[in-house]
Amino acid sequence: MIQKNVLPMALLGMALSLGATNVSAQIKLNTKGIGALEKGYKAVTFSDADAEKLAAEAVTWMDAHNKVADAKDPHTIRLNKIFSKHQNEGGLKLNYKVYLVKDINAFACADGSVRVFSSLMDIMSDDELLGIIGHEIGHVANKDSRDAVRSAYKRAAITEAASSQSGVVNSLSQTQLGSFASALLDSKYNRKQESEADDYAYEFMKTHKYKVTALASAFQKFADMEKGSGDNRTKTEKMLSSHPESATRAEKILAKAKKDGLSK
Ligand SMILES: [Zn+2]
Repeated sequence: MIQKNVLPMALLGMALSLGATNVSAQIKLNTKGIGALEKGYKAVTFSDADAEKLAAEAVTWMDAHNKVADAKDPHTIRLNKIFSKHQNEGGLKLNYKVYLVKDINAFACADGSVRVFSSLMDIMSDDELLGIIGHEIGHVANKDSRDAVRSAYKRAAITEAASSQSGVVNSLSQTQLGSFASALLDSKYNRKQESEADDYAYEFMKTHKYKVTALASAFQKFADMEKGSGDNRTKTEKMLSSHPESATRAEKILAKAKKDGLSK
């Protein structure tokens, strides 16, 4: 998933006063019981279709339990403007929504659902936002998000489903879905996956003639946030911090842009 890092409260306050509207809620998940059930788990064969179906169910759960910006919300209007043309990107069928939450994040799931958090939108320019979304789409295109579904399914406390004797993927109850969604958002990608998602984002920006250097400046913003980070992290912020060091990623992108003649 995307991104980012630890948000110091002071900085968050600043972001809010800079124009994030009445956003106070954090992303809502059900973390009860996660990890309770490794034993008894029987290997389940996941097809891409299984992963997409489970991801879609988890996203439906998250949509129902978080404040989704409506059509008139300025965040929705802005995201429509910059992103609606990308709903069939690279052969992927994407749908998108904005969550009105204070966590600084965005994610894309195996089913092609892209969710962008309003507080991320409030601190990023259009091109920076596109770069971050491009990175998330990269995880879907590269099938990282499919693998994340598989491992979240194992990690979540979905007792009955996971311990099924049949070895097939079962549908989840509403309670199980909450745990599963949480495990999904907590997914860690490795450095290689992150680096490849960055490459995807770079190509996405280049192909559509967006400023590739915006990807670097977005990471630089995360790097600045990381500097001030303490232990008071929310779940999502921790997820962001699983990414390779943001400053290093920014440098890598800038070097590439220079080589391509897209930056001085
Ligand atoms: Zn990522």
